[in-house]
Amino acid sequence: MATIFDKILSGEIPSHKVYEDDLVYSFLDINPLSRGHTLVIPREAKARVHELSDESCAAIGRALPRICRAVLKATGAEDYNILQNNGAPAHQAVFHVHFHIIPKFNDAGLGVGWKPGSLQAQDAEALLAAMHEHLSSEG
Ligand code: AMP
Repeated sequence: MATIFDKILSGEIPSHKVYEDDLVYSFLDINPLSRGHTLVIPREAKARVHELSDESCAAIGRALPRICRAVLKATGAEDYNILQNNGAPAHQAVFHVHFHIIPKFNDAGLGVGWKPGSLQAQDAEALLAAMHEHLSSEG
C-alpha cells in the first residue's frame, strides 16, 4: 500500500529535499523533535529494514554519514541520534523504511526510555545458535 513517503518520492506532495541519489532520498521532518530533524529513506517501497534489498541498504549506509555531516554543519549540533522504527508497537507511523537523524541540543531532541536487563549465558548461547543458523542459511 502506498504511503505518504511514496507520494513524496513521486513528487505528488512536496518535501524539503536535503539529498537524493538513484536509491536514496532525504528530506526535513515536518514535525521535528529538534531543529534539523531529517529523514533518510530508500526509494524502494518496503516497510521494514529487513525487507530491503542489499543495494538499497548499502546506498543508505553510504549516504547516512554525509547527510549527518550536513545536518551538523547546518545546525551547529555536535550530538545526535539516529532512530529507525520497525512496526507500530516500535513507534513506526509511516510504513516505508526511514532513518531519523535527530540533533540533540540540551533538552531538545530524542528522549529515550532504556531499561536494560542482564544477558544470561545460556540465553546468549541459544540466541547465537539460532542467529548463526539463519545467517548461514542466507549464505
Ligand atoms: P515514525 O514514527 O518513525 O514512522 O516517523 C514518521 C515521521 O515522518 C514522523 O517524524 C513525522 O513527523 C514524519 N512525517 C510524516 N509525514 C511527513 C511529511 N509529509 N513530510 C515530512 N515528514 C513527515
